Amino acid sequence: MPVLCFLLLLLAVFITLAFIRASLLVWTGITMLILVIVTALNALPTAFLIFIWFIFLLVCIPLNILPLRRRLISRYLLPLLKKSMPPMSDTERQALEAGTTWWDAELFSGKPDWSILLDQPAPKLSKEEQDFLDGPVEELCGMLNDWEINHTLHDLPPDVWKFIKSNYFFGMIIPKSFGGLEFSAQAHSAVVMKVASRSVAAAVTVMVPNSLGPGQLLMNYGTEEQKNHYLLRLARGEEVPCFALTSPWAGSDAAAMRDTGIVRRGEFEGVKNVLGIQLNWEKRYITLAPIATVLGLAFKLFDPDHLLGEKEERGITLALIPTNTPGVAIGKRHLPLEQAFQNGPVTGRDVFIPVEWIIGGVDYVGQGWRMLMECLADGRSISLPSLAAGAGKLCVRATGAYARIRRQFRIPIGRMGGVEEALARIAGNTYAMDATRQMTAIAVDQGEKPSVISAIAKYHCTERMRQVVNDAMDVFGGTAIIMGPMNLLARTYEAIPISITVEGANILTRSLIIFGQGVIRCHPYLLKEIRAASESDESASLKAFDRALFAHIGFVGSNKVRSLLLGLTGGRLARPPVTGPARGYARHIERLSANLAFVSDIVLAVLGGALKRKEKLSARLGDVLAQLYIASAAIQRFETQGRKEEDIPYLQWTCEDALYQAQQQLDNFLHNFPNRWISRWLRFFIFPLGRPYSPPGDALGHRIAASILEPGATRDRLTSGIYITNKPDDPLGRIECALEAVMDATEAEEKLRRARKAGVVTALDDETAITELREADLVNEEEEALLRKAAQSVWQAIIVDSFDPGVL
Ligand SMILES: Cc1cc2nc3c(=O)[nH]c(=O)nc-3n(C[C@H](O)[C@H](O)[C@H](O)COP(=O)(O)OP(=O)(O)OC[C@H]3O[C@@H](n4cnc5c(N)ncnc54)[C@H](O)[C@@H]3O)c2cc1C
Repeated sequence: MPVLCFLLLLLAVFITLAFIRASLLVWTGITMLILVIVTALNALPTAFLIFIWFIFLLVCIPLNILPLRRRLISRYLLPLLKKSMPPMSDTERQALEAGTTWWDAELFSGKPDWSILLDQPAPKLSKEEQDFLDGPVEELCGMLNDWEINHTLHDLPPDVWKFIKSNYFFGMIIPKSFGGLEFSAQAHSAVVMKVASRSVAAAVTVMVPNSLGPGQLLMNYGTEEQKNHYLLRLARGEEVPCFALTSPWAGSDAAAMRDTGIVRRGEFEGVKNVLGIQLNWEKRYITLAPIATVLGLAFKLFDPDHLLGEKEERGITLALIPTNTPGVAIGKRHLPLEQAFQNGPVTGRDVFIPVEWIIGGVDYVGQGWRMLMECLADGRSISLPSLAAGAGKLCVRATGAYARIRRQFRIPIGRMGGVEEALARIAGNTYAMDATRQMTAIAVDQGEKPSVISAIAKYHCTERMRQVVNDAMDVFGGTAIIMGPMNLLARTYEAIPISITVEGANILTRSLIIFGQGVIRCHPYLLKEIRAASESDESASLKAFDRALFAHIGFVGSNKVRSLLLGLTGGRLARPPVTGPARGYARHIERLSANLAFVSDIVLAVLGGALKRKEKLSARLGDVLAQLYIASAAIQRFETQGRKEEDIPYLQWTCEDALYQAQQQLDNFLHNFPNRWISRWLRFFIFPLGRPYSPPGDALGHRIAASILEPGATRDRLTSGIYITNKPDDPLGRIECALEAVMDATEAEEKLRRARKAGVVTALDDETAITELREADLVNEEEEALLRKAAQSVWQAIIVDSFDPGVL
């Protein structure tokens, strides 16, 4: 009996130590202390005591004496790791190592440090940034007529181009010292979001020079001469930039491009024997290319005559080329669906440029892929998440109002359960996108280059945008389908596949990047082990490997125990520093974080390099990470915005949706894991009491849908930052006007409804019915006016365009 009690005590102590992630030294010290006490008390049989001391010394001595540990254990494991490491191309390595980690690394740790998230202040714009949004951005939005842009002109009108350039929209990220606006990522995102809520074509036009346009590359890597020459001109819109990476043979696998540059001496602008590069390329899909004055180009550089150094194949290199350089063919346009932003192919035949045109100069020869990956992290964090949030907010604003004013079966369609379900998704997903957008911009503003987070934000915001816009199209019915100046949503609908495809096509991003890059970059020890294994100095390699390996083993053990205990207690053992409505969700995030960390290590141990080819498994774990990121973003927003009572349903919807989706992906992962035994074993630790989460319930959906059906603070907060107009002849304005009029006439409408039910009013059309109501003295003059105004406004809001024969 004492032996059993002792073993149970030891087990409890070990579980606690694993749960709190105690160091090896603490483990050793506490175990020794227990053994000393039981020995002193003479509480156990002597033979058992000797045995237990023997085991303790056998395990603890080699583990704690590092040279012994390296000799006895790590020395044999290091070669195994080297053998199992998948071959990695230079470009893959550069992509993996590009950028930085932030909250994503905490989620991968199994025990996130919430202070990283919660110590951030609520996003705030400077006065200058807010003035820009209220001034030039508001004015620009007012100038945009999406039908005219996309259908009539197939371009932005000249006054819009002039306005964009002269108001420095192309220089938002360029430092003031170079003539730009030097906006924060938060402000940059707010501008893109607002413009996108008005016109996607205009938003893309503004977005590109501030994303992977050459501005970003120049700021990070350009020579002083290049910065001085280009940045001011780019900021002022005197240069229109584009960046050409994609070619017909190399889309997602851009590093497989066939575009080449050969280093040679030649004649340039009348000067002979200039050290330069002869370029040949064929690029397509390039935004702004047809009108660009300066082209950023990615190509593979070769130096067969060794004019730059020993190596012949120098790798992917980037250059800035004025588009009037002989040999550059530019001007043709693609038509991306019916979106009229400038996009087209650009080719170059035997274009000779001096080596000084390489971005960063010859020092940056062959560094192109790393440069692109790092800049992509910044741009991708902002552009498409902001565009998606803008689209979502537009859908919330318009669809909520439309569902209130549009009646079928004599009631507003928004009161019907099926429509309400769609409205809840529209509002909930928009809150999730906006929280994700803002939190990601916080990371960028802190100087991070968040490669994994930018992939999460890009993929999940554009996928949620797809859901939101599809739902909004369904609710609007025919009104959204019939094209014409009055159509509000069709152009946003067209933008879905574009945003899904650009800046890392979504299927690839989900299947290859989020978990693939995430697990290596965010794992606290994996990259250290990989780096140790590739270290050439054997002794340093073994030391570094040993340190990382044993920390890693402790990490796996801790995550296993945390998974089980948090699973058994429904996360109650987690102690996130969050109180109030978000606390429960933060606990569940800790639980799933431990699950993710544990599963990741097991999958790496079992599949190793083969995981790279198991895209469906990788994608599911990437989804878990991403959903945890989205739920954290909702908590961050809720907490830093003062825990607003009216935001609680949105917090609940976003977290419940994200936790449920994370759970389902973990479940699918386990279901499809190739080894059934390991899968069952994992399931025991991950779901010890079954799957705990359900999707947001109907009652919650009802509250959310109701909050966007009527004007109010919640609706305004959810849609803040987009362009809103109440001009009655505007596609959005007419719906806003109708909602206002319908709300003003609510009481009179009720009287009309009752009069119809009682048979006092029999006319089918509104005009006559209102007259009958007034004649029956059931409404006064003022109410009659309100009813007429509401009927007229609703009519204005539901009509669609029709064209005379021949016009189309
Ligand atoms: C409107 C528009 C604007 C653009 N602007 C620019 C620009 O300014 N500059 C520029 O350089 N490029 C630009 N692009 C190109 C864009 O980045 C590419 O379209 C994108 O990289 C995908 O390439 P692809 O279209 O050739 O598709 P493909 O690479 O052929 O991909 C086809 C499908 O296969 C999937 N896929 C590919 N590889 C994998 C994998 N390993 N695992 C899983 N799935 C995979 C993709 O996700 C995609 O669904 C633009 C494209 C469009 C449509």
